[in-house]
Amino acid sequence: TEAATLLDVNNIEVIYNHVILVLKGVSLSVREGGITALLGGNGAGKTTTLKAISNLLQSERGEVTKGSILYKGDRIQDLSPSDLVERGVVQVMEGRHCFEHLTIEENLLTGAYTRRDGSAAIKADLDMVYGYFPRLEERRGSQAGYTSGGEQQMCAIGRALMSRPKMILLDEPSMGLAPQLVEEIFGIVKSLNEEQGVSFLLAEQNTNVALRFSHYGYILESGRIVMDGPAAELRENPDVKEFYLGMS
Ligand code: ATP
Repeated sequence: TEAATLLDVNNIEVIYNHVILVLKGVSLSVREGGITALLGGNGAGKTTTLKAISNLLQSERGEVTKGSILYKGDRIQDLSPSDLVERGVVQVMEGRHCFEHLTIEENLLTGAYTRRDGSAAIKADLDMVYGYFPRLEERRGSQAGYTSGGEQQMCAIGRALMSRPKMILLDEPSMGLAPQLVEEIFGIVKSLNEEQGVSFLLAEQNTNVALRFSHYGYILESGRIVMDGPAAELRENPDVKEFYLGMS
């Protein structure tokens, strides 16, 4: 049986400052239980797409001016980011965004702020996060601002997990990290997908690694989807190889 569609983005247009058209009709969907990659170079519109989904464009003076965004069949364009978190949609922003003056553990606990299921369940999830990210447990008492870039990326993902999400929008998790650490983080994303049933939409410039760890991919260029398909097919596609994987 086909997996259900969790998220449906239909032909959205995004304009910044009332004049700058950045997304020119983007459509994509995220299957329940899958990892979907949104690929493309710098400035293609990946971050804008994720922010449109999680309704974070307002503070950037951006606006969805056309199209629709459905989550489990419901329009979500008017929901606040915290309403979305309660529904199970959470974004991990590019550049990590941990609270630098809080410890790793305090950062993780801030992710549980919308929950009403009590401290025992939250403690169990903290243990679950430490199970996936043993480095975070080692650093639980350290101020996040003094931890490494990789640890801060892990902390941001861990904090998102603390809200018990159905779907995580993950923006450029490889950014600024050494290749070995990128592999480690993608490996954990895959385990979270398989074992915790979390679906992912991940934006990446690193096409190679993203296609190895995802099920389906979309390629964005100048605000338009130019190609999409199962990840294994995209990896074998000659155009993808030439333009995005650096081989021909
Ligand atoms: P990156 O990997 O650099 O984040 P991206 O694919 O995520 O790239 P976006 O950040 O979505 O791309 O940017 C898409 C385009 O929108 C770029 O041309 C960028 O300059 C423009 N843009 C982004 N934010 C704003 C803003 N607040 N106001 C005006 N233009 C913006």
